[in-house]
Amino acid sequence: MRIDLHTHSSVSDGTATPRELVTAAQGAGLDVVAITDHDTSEGWGEAAETAADVGITLVRGMEISTRHRGQSVHLLAYLPDPTYGPLMEGLQRILDGRNARVPAILERLREVGMPLDIEDVHRAAGATAAYGRPHVADALVAKGFVRDRDQAFAELLGNGRPAYVDRYAEPLTPMIRMVGEAGGVTVIAHPWGRHEPGAVGEEGLAALAEAGLAGIEVDHEDHDAATREELRAIARNLGLVATGSSDHHGLGKTGHDLGCNTTDPDEYHRLLELAKEAAAGSGRVTPEVLVP
Ligand code: AMP
Ligand code: FE
Ligand code: FE
Ligand code: ZN
Repeated sequence: MRIDLHTHSSVSDGTATPRELVTAAQGAGLDVVAITDHDTSEGWGEAAETAADVGITLVRGMEISTRHRGQSVHLLAYLPDPTYGPLMEGLQRILDGRNARVPAILERLREVGMPLDIEDVHRAAGATAAYGRPHVADALVAKGFVRDRDQAFAELLGNGRPAYVDRYAEPLTPMIRMVGEAGGVTVIAHPWGRHEPGAVGEEGLAALAEAGLAGIEVDHEDHDAATREELRAIARNLGLVATGSSDHHGLGKTGHDLGCNTTDPDEYHRLLELAKEAAAGSGRVTPEVLVP
């Protein structure tokens, strides 16, 4: 059984529509795929329809932008009730922050001689529900200022580059609790990845486990072999689920092919058990895992 629990569609900063993404997941030989767009559940409906059509198990989730000790941490949330008020409000604050940041980035780009209009970004972003730097990167590519997203991040949009602008993220620990109250479970995405080094060490992960964290994304392209083994040991010690995933973004991110990392079926089933407990404890109506 091949399980990939972290993928993005064009509803956030992936390049494939939810239908194309789920179809591609089935085509790549996956048995289970989770759709985890940034800060939104907008893609869930189309993904669910497609999963039934093509015959693949679908886990509905999202990747929530949070902050912890001043650093960015991505929190995967699986199977929460997306209509739970506090969660909806938190996601809306993040999406508002994403929208507010785009003009600020364009201002910086103008200063370095790469003027873009907001319409250029909207065109590049299509029907996204969560504007991000990758869409600005796509607009820069369309204007011929850069070759691809990688170059846009390396030279302009990445942390510490001239057009980098921070944005709002929700506090991590309260968000872990909120997802639990919404009947879902949480997994820290790429905890020791390139973009978020050092925000959560072993002690931090222990504290988050106390707060209700269910798992750690261990197998991810941003983690080298030694990092994976260290994180796997921490997960074991803390009783956390260890997941593995592609963090696929379609054509938008190289080296993240569907199924390039997968989650062990035993770990997956533990995660689903925890989700079941969270759902029962919350009293919310939560999304089912869709099995064809
Ligand atoms: P944002 O959400 O606007 O802060 O932008 C961060 C997103 O950009 C992350 O979700 C990454 O998937 C993506 N990203 C970061 N670095 C790169 C890169 N070098 N190439 C393509 N996408 C990237
Ligand atoms: Fe992304
Ligand atoms: Fe992420
Ligand atoms: Zn991701």
